[in-house]
Amino acid sequence: MDSWFVCSICGNKISLADYKASLYVCPGCGRHSRLSWQDRLDCTADEGSFREFDAGVVSANPIGFPGYEEKTAALRETCGAGESIVTGICTIMGYRVLAGVMDSRFMMASMGCAAGEKITRLFEYGTENRLPVVIFTASGGARMQEGIFSLMQMAKTSGALGKHSRLGQLYVSVLTDPTTGGVMASFASLGDIIIAEPGALAGFAGKRVIRDTIGGELPFDFQSAEFVSRHGFVDMIVERKNMRETLAKIFRVHRCKKEL
Ligand SMILES: [Zn+2]
Repeated sequence: MDSWFVCSICGNKISLADYKASLYVCPGCGRHSRLSWQDRLDCTADEGSFREFDAGVVSANPIGFPGYEEKTAALRETCGAGESIVTGICTIMGYRVLAGVMDSRFMMASMGCAAGEKITRLFEYGTENRLPVVIFTASGGARMQEGIFSLMQMAKTSGALGKHSRLGQLYVSVLTDPTTGGVMASFASLGDIIIAEPGALAGFAGKRVIRDTIGGELPFDFQSAEFVSRHGFVDMIVERKNMRETLAKIFRVHRCKKEL
């Protein structure tokens, strides 16, 4: 088995062990690689603290899309997740929080009915139990294989999030590469605090679509975390190695509870 990682951006070569130790960030150019939900939790949550919710909530095939059931069944196997988002409760530096982690390996972490239901239930649990929510987003948007039902998840998740917010509960959205489409147009952009990982793609429509629509050239870093941060869309860009400390600081400022 190949035990080296070669960065596709800068060509830097390091051992897989060192790459893992650097949280899958290239030491040469700082590129933050996409993470599986397991790796994301490993480098964010306190060890062994995560307890999954709603693992059995999986996609149906509401519009009878050909081959859809087979595809999702295979992805459940390879990703070890029921859907494109894994939700649950954990502690982060001792703070008790509800967490959602999207995994781009699962159909580009697109949001269908099951993902929408899991996110909605997460916020409802947070509303009932007065707990903060943090979601690591990474998504191609709504899931076209579920047609209009996937678009409805935008309103559904936003509604549950709104109730959580009106109760004064904290929601932190962390945009990771890539966060686009219907996910960006709903819960990803509704955080009380919006964080982005360096270099993450963050936008709604694809660059090419926008360029062709407006008939003009776009800035070279259009829709990068740095671009949207300069334009006030993101509150801060946080490197992966500082994510836990930064989240803990936010939880402390907002008087979130520590695990007893
Ligand atoms: Zn690199």
